[in-house]
Amino acid sequence: MTTIQPVKNFINGQFERNGQQSMDVFNPSSGEVISTLPLSGAAEVDAAVKAAEAAFPTWSGLTMKERVQIFFKYRALLEEHCEELTELVSIENGKTMGEARAEVMKSIELCEFAVSMPQIICNEVQEVSRGVECRTERKPLGVVACITPFNFPNMVPHWTVPNAIVLGNTVVLKPSEMVPLSTVRMAELLKEAGLPDGVFNVVNGGKEVVEAICDNEGIKAVSFVGSTRVAKIVYKRASSNLKRCVALGGAKNHLLVLPDAHLQMTANNVVASMSGCAGQRCMAAAVMVGVDAVQPIIDRMVEEAKLIVPGDNLGAVISKEAKERIEGYITEAEKAGAKILVDGRNTTVEGQEGGFFVGPTIIDHVTQDMSVATEEIFGPVISIIRAKDLDEAIKIENDSNYGNAAAVFTQSGGLARRVMEKASAGMIGVNIGVPVPREPFSFGGWNESKFGVGDITGKSSIEFWTQNKKTTTKWNPEDKTNWMS
Ligand code: NAD
Repeated sequence: MTTIQPVKNFINGQFERNGQQSMDVFNPSSGEVISTLPLSGAAEVDAAVKAAEAAFPTWSGLTMKERVQIFFKYRALLEEHCEELTELVSIENGKTMGEARAEVMKSIELCEFAVSMPQIICNEVQEVSRGVECRTERKPLGVVACITPFNFPNMVPHWTVPNAIVLGNTVVLKPSEMVPLSTVRMAELLKEAGLPDGVFNVVNGGKEVVEAICDNEGIKAVSFVGSTRVAKIVYKRASSNLKRCVALGGAKNHLLVLPDAHLQMTANNVVASMSGCAGQRCMAAAVMVGVDAVQPIIDRMVEEAKLIVPGDNLGAVISKEAKERIEGYITEAEKAGAKILVDGRNTTVEGQEGGFFVGPTIIDHVTQDMSVATEEIFGPVISIIRAKDLDEAIKIENDSNYGNAAAVFTQSGGLARRVMEKASAGMIGVNIGVPVPREPFSFGGWNESKFGVGDITGKSSIEFWTQNKKTTTKWNPEDKTNWMS
């Protein structure tokens, strides 16, 4: 059994064990306790904010070219420690080593975007009247905070932290209390890369830390990634305290499958989208809307799903409670009259009997009034709703409260184009089950999948983490003045 040192907060470049109480960290694949973390509160947030405030003048005073040098080194350290970081993600989150490695690779890619910032950002200057120039420059906000969920312990912190820091801000990060281990290594490696003390701080804990972040007057902006329920709380509380906030919430992604879709490719994509990372991705397929004669595709999906081996190419879900919740949804759908084509309930893995496993589950003949059609399950479960034509399928997608992603599978460009136009979601896939935009494109949903203006990654994040300074100068000879100068 692996046990890991108790987690500490990282404040002003030092690891400190503080917080009144502690909580256990589990390995979801075995069900065993592997570490503990402190449950911090307002005092620890305040200490982290003070350290970040003290670090801000020097850090923001460097040029962007100087700041990115740290992230060139950090990126190299991520590569050097890739296997160790992969294991850590797998141990604390339960995903397979392959999925965990892909996550760390994505963090490396996110650093590549951050170090390219000096090439992307060019401030503007124009002579607006004779001898009079207007210029705009992007300036950092000050101390900012990032709050992250359990499902990508390494990647989601890298959605925000490198960009925010490269742009001149200093950061307080609150990782999910269920997966605090990856951010300990993140702090250690950033320090090793040469990041000055106080520029990056980590405060561990739950709700109390989030509330203290939303209330702390020293924090200028808050990014949040998590469930819609909490995104709403954070968005309201942070913005009512006059902070800039973007809060990404949950999802119920619809995949529209048309009868002309490529049989094998579609079956593979839909099953991979719903079962990858045990369905615990905000981009996972949750509802398949089967348009007209798609039975052969569904039959092939069933065959593909049956090839998945929990504990081998399917990881665990995060907790015992998550397993019970997911299985509860399947039972409820069965009672409501849906047909369970592949049933992942009561899954156990030999040698890992304490692990929280749910097998891949395909539920057919779901109707829009069932909870499996509308609520986020966050497990390896797909609900199939049948539609007579594309218009009905689009309406079903549009009826969802969420709007993170939507996808269409077809060989018709015209029909794909209709879905691209009409789907009510921020990220659209055509013949792709997990349509994550890669940098420099930005990540973010619509409707109840995101609150606030702009997206969280890519070019859109530049807007979020900076403010524009507008300067007007006049350096003209006196005989060249006109009415404006
Ligand atoms: P969560 O909302 O339970 O927790 C997210 C963060 O909020 C954690 O740091 C947690 O400590 C904190 N928190 C929890 N309850 C709180 C409360 N009552 N008040 C204040 N803070 C609170 O989410 P999770 O279970 O960790 O992650 C899964 C969810 O995240 C899913 O809904 C998933 O769709 C979503 N998610 C969304 C995206 C996206 O880009 N839209 C990406 C990843 C995950």
